[in-house]
Amino acid sequence: MTFRGRLVMLIAAAPILAVAVLTAPVAPPQPLGWEPQIVTASGPVTPATSARYGPSAAPSAVSSLVRSVRRALPHGIGSERGLQVQTIRVKRAISARFPQIREIGGVRPDAMKWHPQGLAIDVIIPDYDTTAGRALGDRIARFALNNVKRFGLEHVIWQRIYHPAKGKPRLMRDLGDDDANHYTHVHIATYGGGLPTGREHYFD
Ligand SMILES: [Zn+2]
Repeated sequence: MTFRGRLVMLIAAAPILAVAVLTAPVAPPQPLGWEPQIVTASGPVTPATSARYGPSAAPSAVSSLVRSVRRALPHGIGSERGLQVQTIRVKRAISARFPQIREIGGVRPDAMKWHPQGLAIDVIIPDYDTTAGRALGDRIARFALNNVKRFGLEHVIWQRIYHPAKGKPRLMRDLGDDDANHYTHVHIATYGGGLPTGREHYFD
């Protein structure tokens, strides 16, 4: 075939190629839900350094593919023993964003299911009875409530107000003291997502 002949064939094929590209199934964008963000890998993976939150202790060994999607969250404050994966993720995200936080409670005996089943954390607010403490608690509660889907959030309790993930906040009955009334800590509960297998990586 002559060069001219090949050119004619290419020109003739061009619209077909264009149609094929246009009608090819396009992968939907990754939703911001929980599932796509647990990335399982077989090799050892350490948390990536986050420019936003300052350097983490360990050097990064996350594959470039994973790193380009999400930044890994370091363990952060508080024990993860018995926590379900969505609860672990919100704990790590709050640890990373709010360095003022020094204590986060997790699994403990309680009449309600949230803490015993690893569904809730208590973010202890330093100087909770000061203006700065109240403002910090407000920011943490708002951060959780602004990310309902991302964290699989079920509810938040802060300063006696129960905030369901869906629906209107309501004032809870007075339980007698600042701890029970959630003035000392922000209680954050998730749907859980199951207990970790040990192969999870948590991304911001
Ligand atoms: Zn709690």
